[in-house]
Amino acid sequence: MTVAIVVLNQRSVSLARQVAQGCDGMVYGLDRRTTGVDHSFAEFGPTLRSLFEEKTPIIGICAAGILIRTLAPVLGNKTEDPPVLAIAEDGSTVVPLLGGLQGVNDLARQIAQLLQVSPAITASGEIRFRTTLLAPPRGYRLLNDPDQAKGFIAQVLAGATVRFETHPTPSPTSFAWEGSLPEWLEQSRLPWSESGSESGEYRLIVATEIGPDVRPSDRCLVYEQLPQRGYLAIVGTGPGSFEWMSPQVRRTLLEATDWVGYRTYLNLVEPLRSPSIRRHESDNRVEGDRARQALDLAAMGRRVVLVSSGDPGIFAMAAAVFEVLETRENPDWSLVEIEVCPGISAMQAAAAQVGAPLGHDFAVISLSDILKPWSVVESRLRAAAQGDFAIALYNPVSKQRTWQLDRARELLLEWRSPATPVVLARNLGRVGQGVRVKPLAEVTAGDADMRTVILIGSSQTRQVQSGEGRPWVYTPRTYGG
Ligand code: SAH
Repeated sequence: MTVAIVVLNQRSVSLARQVAQGCDGMVYGLDRRTTGVDHSFAEFGPTLRSLFEEKTPIIGICAAGILIRTLAPVLGNKTEDPPVLAIAEDGSTVVPLLGGLQGVNDLARQIAQLLQVSPAITASGEIRFRTTLLAPPRGYRLLNDPDQAKGFIAQVLAGATVRFETHPTPSPTSFAWEGSLPEWLEQSRLPWSESGSESGEYRLIVATEIGPDVRPSDRCLVYEQLPQRGYLAIVGTGPGSFEWMSPQVRRTLLEATDWVGYRTYLNLVEPLRSPSIRRHESDNRVEGDRARQALDLAAMGRRVVLVSSGDPGIFAMAAAVFEVLETRENPDWSLVEIEVCPGISAMQAAAAQVGAPLGHDFAVISLSDILKPWSVVESRLRAAAQGDFAIALYNPVSKQRTWQLDRARELLLEWRSPATPVVLARNLGRVGQGVRVKPLAEVTAGDADMRTVILIGSSQTRQVQSGEGRPWVYTPRTYGG
């Protein structure tokens, strides 16, 4: 869920932006004192209280006391309060205040890591056990009522040890992992009693089936392990820079258990990865294998994100997933929940750099003849040229494919003026970004590589000089008028 990062003065805006990058946040600023924020508000108190009542997680870059006093009248049920935390104006401390059961301590740790400080965590259970027994992670549900659970936690804080059990009890022939701790408990620091010992009076049960013999009590916590419906998101991270990544994609990445993708794309988002997210990188150019791997992981109940650059549905992994899905090789794939999260495609980023060359009808063609015969590429180029579309060319040149762009230029020149503006945009949003505009007649294969997208103007595309600097390139919205 999107976090509201609330600032009261301009000095805090850059810190707020940094925090927003790390946690899918929107910056809310007091209108009289801030500019360049996502939302401006006029009145602090009512704004904060309505965010709280809508259950929006809140981060105030201000004194903890201000947040406490403002929210006091609306404090309600502890189990439902959203996370609220304060960050000191200079970023030196992160203080979780409310919403312990909604993950405030995890959020505090995440932000503290980003700011390279230690979070001021005060919840005893959190500190001692490194997990919130009252609020297990996704996929588990605590069956005890909160009073029983509190009694249990108090006893364990006072020194009782805990015995772990699964239900149903694994048979001696079952796989070893069936009786072992789930990851969230393994990472915790709960005081487990010796294995095989009968002495642990306090029991923690993870149950896949709830029978009459698993009864929650103040000596026995029972977590139901919910049937995991696997999840696969195919996301587009945009061309490169984090500014061009949608908040939905960022959140999906942060909530995943596994990332799958081509190494270069995973490296682009690596700064967002927490250590608990498993990274499955491949050098493999066979997209089908990567799609299969992602579907298989999701079918095992994991939350998988398949990472594409740009938009995942444009010459990228989303179509590859559906191609593989259609083969029905693994019957479990049909149970996986699939979501496609859009991104800014290279052509949009390129167009924005120079103005609006795609302002009227345009066609998009991949020059790669790996997945379609070159004769098809030629016939589409011809049709787009003849139709006087502006044309975006993806995959113009690679180490193996060096002549296609020159051939495309020759073909286009049969319909289009040699002076047609062509935008050559390389490494958009990444280190080494470069954008050039050249007349069509002068474009050669040497102008592009596999990280270049090319926009070719229509007969109407023109350049306009405004002030100093490079001219803008644009295609008017009206045609032939
Ligand atoms: N899904 C991607 C396209 C993948 S096909 C998207 O929507 O942008 C790969 C081609 O995309 C490259 O050969 C290049 O033509 C273009 N491309 C991808 N990222 C780019 C970037 N950062 N800068 C320029 N071109 C890029």
